[in-house]
Amino acid sequence: MNDYTAPLDDIVAALQLVGLDDVLALAVFEDLDIAAVREVLGGFAKLAGEVIAPTDRIGDTVGATLDVASGVVTTAPELANAFAEYSKGGWTALSAPVERGGGGFPGAVATAVREMFGSANMALSLNPVLTQSAIELLELYGDDRQQEVFLSRLIDGTWTGTMNLTEPDAGSDLGAVRTTAAPTGDGRWLINGTKIYITWGEHELTDNIIHLVLARAPEAPAGTKGISLFLVPKVIVDDDGGLHERNGVHALALEHKMGIHASPTCVLQFDDAIGELVGPLHNGMAAMFSMMNPARVAIGLQGVSIGERSLQQASSFAAERKQGRAGNVNPAPIASHPDVQRMLLDITVTVRAARMLVYATSVAADLATHHPDEAVRAASQARADLLTPLAKAWATDEGVRTSSLALQIHGGMGFIEETGIAQHYRDARIAPIYEGTNGIQAMDLVGRKVSRDNGAAMNTLLDQITVTVHSASNLPTLKAAADSLGHAVDTVRAVTTWVVDTMRSDSPTVLAGATAYLELAAKTVAGELLLREAIAAAECGSTSADRLAAQLQFFVLEHLDRAPTVGSITLGATLLATALA
Ligand SMILES: Cc1cc2nc3c(=O)[nH]c(=O)nc-3n(C[C@H](O)[C@H](O)[C@H](O)COP(=O)(O)OP(=O)(O)OC[C@H]3O[C@@H](n4cnc5c(N)ncnc54)[C@H](O)[C@@H]3O)c2cc1C
Repeated sequence: MNDYTAPLDDIVAALQLVGLDDVLALAVFEDLDIAAVREVLGGFAKLAGEVIAPTDRIGDTVGATLDVASGVVTTAPELANAFAEYSKGGWTALSAPVERGGGGFPGAVATAVREMFGSANMALSLNPVLTQSAIELLELYGDDRQQEVFLSRLIDGTWTGTMNLTEPDAGSDLGAVRTTAAPTGDGRWLINGTKIYITWGEHELTDNIIHLVLARAPEAPAGTKGISLFLVPKVIVDDDGGLHERNGVHALALEHKMGIHASPTCVLQFDDAIGELVGPLHNGMAAMFSMMNPARVAIGLQGVSIGERSLQQASSFAAERKQGRAGNVNPAPIASHPDVQRMLLDITVTVRAARMLVYATSVAADLATHHPDEAVRAASQARADLLTPLAKAWATDEGVRTSSLALQIHGGMGFIEETGIAQHYRDARIAPIYEGTNGIQAMDLVGRKVSRDNGAAMNTLLDQITVTVHSASNLPTLKAAADSLGHAVDTVRAVTTWVVDTMRSDSPTVLAGATAYLELAAKTVAGELLLREAIAAAECGSTSADRLAAQLQFFVLEHLDRAPTVGSITLGATLLATALA
């Protein structure tokens, strides 16, 4: 079986656990309550399960093709139908402001929708992910006309958006971007260059595509300081949104990929393409970062989506496949064997923890945007900024690990494409790479997020985790796990001090430990979310209390007690270099 049923109860519970109610209590959301949220998520759950999920396998097998002569990219027709249903339902606009024709829901609710879309068809879901990023960018940096002409049509789903950063010699290092922008003298710009790996860079799902492109204006300073951001439509648009001639941007080729086959990954050639500047000249990186941060959270979510889809498939397979004896049953379903149960439990608890981590990041972003108190907005922004690399890197690494476990549960059938589990594993593998590799996320954590504020945001987070740990001290079923979490907090705190103290004098040594630090920090935050969930269940005498306590204990034993120590994180660049010599 390769169906998908959205775990609606889990999704709503996770949203509430990480503070959605605080967001809904804000004046801007006064017309909404949790019942409305549940209803809207239920509506999408139906679309995801019934319309989008059945296209997943077709999209993988049919893939995307480019007719080089005409430049037309085609994907399976079923994808176009599913995408049309998505657009018609107004789902792109869910979190856009009501005055712009949006649904006015918090971003965290849109995140939950995105999770379901990603589970149903990760490759197709990338299209709205990039459109959503373009929307957020134009809301912040677009001028009135750009908002009127382009933003409104991205919000209502008429057109889609792309993000054009990468070039053959500019991947992780965007300072190396070579694409040029020359002023035409009438306020417009001519864009020339080649961008690679552009997701949904060309397609027929909509009649226009809005490319947001990093390029260099004449006499721009070297490096990232000299990069500007341009809006380049596939088809030239007038001020009323009318479509005219084709612009000078074309797909030269599509990449042949390991996974997400339904998503056309394009080499885009810009030949005197007409573009317009978005935001101030030479400020493209700041603008693009506003697009990249939500996009990073959305990619972290893909780890959750794929983990959930893989879990559903593995659970179903394990219930049906019979091998070996269990008690008096012979042959027994493999789900009754302890080692298979171990794998299913690992996926279950990891997906739940990762979901809460990503949702917590989204809730922080909502509070940073909408809270009336400036101090709360600033603290929430610092929290969202800190959690973003944890959510992106840890959740996507876990997406690969959990889909691999799900494949393992299938035995030999896991390696055979027919079951479909191999697709999820192949699809999951891109998420730790794009939107800033996970190595780059770790560098972002120790550099921008921890060193710059001398560890303030991280230490505030650790203080809050400590409060949760203490609140479990009277709950016997949770005490052992809480103690382990307390030790993890001590380790993260000690390494945070070391990062702050060492970054200036010996950054290579800090960078050598950055990935291990990120992993431990993410697991500590995830562990606290599981602990909060278990405390809430224990305190209200819920029937799920023992189950959640046992799952927490499993997570702590498997993930936190085996986590890196201070010594293993601070081992240093010299040791690495010597060991590799
Ligand atoms: C399927 C797919 C879709 C994509 N979609 C888009 C898109 O829509 N738009 C877009 O602009 N781009 C897109 N990308 C590009 C993607 O974001 C880049 O591949 C990614 O940022 C990594 O860049 P790179 O491939 O050049 O790897 P490199 O930068 O060459 O990195 C190779 C390795 O070196 C490491 N590394 C590099 N620099 C450093 C450093 N300074 N310190 C430590 N480690 C370092 C990296 O972590 C990585 O492990 C896509 C890529 C793929 C494969």
